[in-house]
Amino acid sequence: MYDINKVRADFPILSRTVYDRPLVYLDNGATTQKPLCVLDAMREEYLNANANVHRGVHYLSQRATDLHEAARETVRQFINAPKTEEIIFTRGTTESINLVAASFCEAFMAEGDEVIVSVMEHHSNIVPWQLQAAKRGIALKVIPMDDSGKLDMKAYEQLFSERTKIVSVAHVSNTLGTVNPVKEIVRIAHEHGVPVLVDGAQSTPHFAVDVQSIDCDFFAFSGHKIYGPTGIGVLYGKEEWLDRMPPYQGGGEMIESVSFEKTTFEKLPFKFEAGTPDYVATHGLATALNYVSALGMDNIATHERELTDYCMTRLAEIDGMRLFGTTEGKDAVVSFLVGDIHHLDMGTLLDRLGIAVRTGHHCAQPVMDRFGIQGMVRASFGLYNTKEEVDALVAGVKRVSQMF
Ligand code: PLP
Repeated sequence: MYDINKVRADFPILSRTVYDRPLVYLDNGATTQKPLCVLDAMREEYLNANANVHRGVHYLSQRATDLHEAARETVRQFINAPKTEEIIFTRGTTESINLVAASFCEAFMAEGDEVIVSVMEHHSNIVPWQLQAAKRGIALKVIPMDDSGKLDMKAYEQLFSERTKIVSVAHVSNTLGTVNPVKEIVRIAHEHGVPVLVDGAQSTPHFAVDVQSIDCDFFAFSGHKIYGPTGIGVLYGKEEWLDRMPPYQGGGEMIESVSFEKTTFEKLPFKFEAGTPDYVATHGLATALNYVSALGMDNIATHERELTDYCMTRLAEIDGMRLFGTTEGKDAVVSFLVGDIHHLDMGTLLDRLGIAVRTGHHCAQPVMDRFGIQGMVRASFGLYNTKEEVDALVAGVKRVSQMF
């Protein structure tokens, strides 16, 4: 059974007030709050096991290395990757995508080659490719979507050409909550012999992910969006690709030997991990993944889908409400505008009621352009949110609407 009160007790920040009102935290798409076990694990490591990893023969270094490498195994199991060597620690989804864009393009792409992305990508899955486009003369092809925020799969198939070298798409849209059919996207790409990167920033926190079942070639996610610390993220890549890709950054940890005549690189995953890693954060991330696994990803998914459906239904009661995105197959994100109330005004006034939502373009300006707007208000749910908090949001939105 999913005991929401017990879950909430793990997150002390949820019982604080803002402006003398109980905090209603509905900005989980931006970042999630951290359970005590994550904070305790990181504090404990700094207190009792802090030393640089992979370099010391001494006890503390061995201990920190063990925790760090155990975290890699925890990540592997969490996304069901075949091998721990295929798990690379990065600073987050953004860095994971930048790594692939830079290294994959260097190894496999030349002027005139093409990458397929979708119109609903976060900027972090657009700009790294644009940087490569400016440098190497590659081109971006964009999968369009319909008014309900679903990708046009027919148009997707037609985007492939002889020059298509990689597809890079979001698993779940951070603005619309659309759960994209990544398995189908991968199947079609593989028919053309093209690998696929899946941006899992908004899927891993909400439902169980199995990279072998999706069969994607790369998968990226961020620790801070799944109840772990900031500044740590993951790139999973199939060994067959990673092995053939050049290092992304150079420095310590990633080399086998260095001389001024010839430097050779470490094996996977270290080839892609230059410098001292955030080994305390990897332990914190593993603790967070164990925490959500113990709650059960299926239980979390059921709980959050109920909240999302309930929120969509209740917000639709409000005059002038415009809800964005599909009503089915939607995940933990509800974006809206009311009449001509500016999204920033709505967000600012909700904040005064203790309700934290995100406003603006959510780092997805092409989505705003698609709907002909400047920004939206976004409520995004986490495993600790309640129906009462949805009620508070609905009451808040009604109250703000009556002020205009
Ligand atoms: N991709 C998606 C779909 C996101 O929602 C986000 C963050 O909001 C990112 C990528 C970037 O994540 P990060 O800032 O943790 O690197």
